[in-house]
Amino acid sequence: MAHPRHEFVRARAGAVCEYCRLPEALYPGPYTTEHIIARQHGGSDRDDNLAYACGHCNLHKGPNIAGLDPATGLLTRLFNPRVDVWNDHSEWSGHILTSRTPVGRTTGVVLAMNDAMARVVRAALLAEGVFPPIPPA
Ligand SMILES: [Zn+2]
Repeated sequence: MAHPRHEFVRARAGAVCEYCRLPEALYPGPYTTEHIIARQHGGSDRDDNLAYACGHCNLHKGPNIAGLDPATGLLTRLFNPRVDVWNDHSEWSGHILTSRTPVGRTTGVVLAMNDAMARVVRAALLAEGVFPPIPPA
């Protein structure tokens, strides 16, 4: 069952995954309303703790709120779509996600944004001329 705020969260996000920026219309599966700070960690059910996520990002994020920055090994929080600007932390190099900051790097690794499946999907969309679909917000 969808979260009661699903339609609001979907509209606020423009039907785009707030982590990997892939539009819902281009993804082969349902998107979900997820808790940025997981309930397990005391995260609220308010709109400012909800984000719209594709199945890939939601699956890999799970209850994670932080990870180890692959460049430094330091414990680093994940990207928060409610307070962070995507383009400040990450960018596309073709179909590969590259990161500008520790938060971007850590989120890219924890959410497996460059794993084989994600790269194959984005490469196919790039070849079709529909990726990157919109300027990152
Ligand atoms: Zn995603």
